[in-house]
Amino acid sequence: MSANGLVLQTENLQKELKAGEVTVQALRGVSLSVMRGEFLGVIGPSGSGKSTLLGLIGGLDNPTTGKVWIDGIDITNLNERALTRVRNEKIGFIFQFFNLIPTLTALENVALPIQFARQRKFDPTKRAKELLDLLGLGDRLHHRPTQLSGGQQQRVAIARSLANAPALLLCDEPTGSLDTSSSETVMKALRDVQRSMNTTVIIVTHNMEIASQVDRLVTLVDGQLVADVDPHSSAQMAAVKLFKEKRATGEMSVIHPK
Ligand code: ADP
Ligand code: MG
Repeated sequence: MSANGLVLQTENLQKELKAGEVTVQALRGVSLSVMRGEFLGVIGPSGSGKSTLLGLIGGLDNPTTGKVWIDGIDITNLNERALTRVRNEKIGFIFQFFNLIPTLTALENVALPIQFARQRKFDPTKRAKELLDLLGLGDRLHHRPTQLSGGQQQRVAIARSLANAPALLLCDEPTGSLDTSSSETVMKALRDVQRSMNTTVIIVTHNMEIASQVDRLVTLVDGQLVADVDPHSSAQMAAVKLFKEKRATGEMSVIHPK
């Protein structure tokens, strides 16, 4: 970790994307600093640049201008080999779809990135078991993905992303394909990971329910950061919570226009 505890820093990130003849300004100068162990959410409407931002942070793509530091390393200046190394050692990725290898068991899926690590820090099988235990899947080690529920598959994916003890876990709509109850188990799993391993977790979502559970919430609109709040104390989030409580108790009803 860098000396001052910053796991991630971005400076004036801009990204232009071309769709045929049209150029889209997907990001218009995003500067963000995130400390070790933070549990951060990124919310914003569809098309606001959330996935683009996460891709740049994770070194999956290069910014048009601007910089990204991971653990003090400027990843916008690395060659492909060095970048791959930072990605493998410092960053875990979670996506909406779990991308598990269907022919492998949960245990084998999680052990795989440890077997392929350049410097092997852990015993693959032992580490995979520990991680699956942590995620509440100790009794599902030998199940294949098709024998697991969506929420269980996503927890296997989380275990796999943690295989080489990354400092930063990047999650793009991690509950996007899950029902409410599975979403809850996945959010709880991410919280457990952050608390027990002090991993920095960044969750991109367009779901207010998910967003209300993070410790720090940044809002992206049209490629720009427009808010950075603690949702536990923000007036707007408090209003959303109050509305939900009142709706749940029947004090407030939702009026559906005809
Ligand atoms: P979000 O994840 O918030 O829905 P994205 O980061 O996916 O938003 O997209 C931001 C903007 O960039 C949108 O206008 C989208 O249409 C555009 N965009 C995303 N990916 C591409 C691409 N590969 N080529 C061209 N435009 C893209
Ligand atoms: Mg997206």
